[in-house]
Amino acid sequence: MKIIAANWKMNKTNKEARAFFAEYAKLVRKNNNQVLFFAPFTTLGTVVKAGKELGITAGAQNFYPAKNGTFTGEISLDMLAEAGVRTVLVGHSERRTLLKESDEFINEKVKAALNAGFKVIFCIGENIEEYETGKTSAVLKKQITRGLKDIPFVNGLIIAYEPIWAISGGDPSKPKPIPTREIIERIHTEIKELTVKMFGCSVPVLYGGSANDKNWAELSTMKNVDGALVGGASLVSEKFATMVNIK
Ligand code: PEP
Repeated sequence: MKIIAANWKMNKTNKEARAFFAEYAKLVRKNNNQVLFFAPFTTLGTVVKAGKELGITAGAQNFYPAKNGTFTGEISLDMLAEAGVRTVLVGHSERRTLLKESDEFINEKVKAALNAGFKVIFCIGENIEEYETGKTSAVLKKQITRGLKDIPFVNGLIIAYEPIWAISGGDPSKPKPIPTREIIERIHTEIKELTVKMFGCSVPVLYGGSANDKNWAELSTMKNVDGALVGGASLVSEKFATMVNIK
């Protein structure tokens, strides 16, 4: 069983999501994989509805870590729960860089979501300069120790390792080169060992960054790769269904 999570980012209207699921339903075969779709807020209702028929889980790409209040433009965990959503993405590199989310704010979000009983996919990853100067392990360790500081428990926590330099940029026809098997296995093992040290148990670790229908068969055999977080390739029903169909 693998966890295969689609990150649709700012893509797919309800009409487009319905068309995607109509195709996806025809292509996907019964399997044990756990499949999630992180959709834009306005499309979550369509994903929740499709979830009942297709056995998929809807997830939100963002929320604000307060019960309610004067936070113009934000969405609370209660609002997501009311909409049938109990899984969230936290710490994605696009929010860290474009929206300037700090490790401290990300930590507040992780704690709020776990305390509210949500599942959290917590994203970490190094940029190209950090990768080229051999700082990957140190960067990830900092993101994990700060982002997961004082969390109440690890039940419901999943980590996604996404080297920023391997993230595709959204065009499913233009994947970027990805790290070698040796690097992915070493990094995933390091992440798991760190969580054992911090929490006394290891957590599932997904790989993200140009994972697609062509490379997932191999990626899925790598040691300590428990699943994938998929951007560009998740926008195309044939590509994503191919990944989900791989056992
Ligand atoms: C992502 O940004 O979460 C991602 C994995 O993107 P892509 O698959 O397009 O590289």
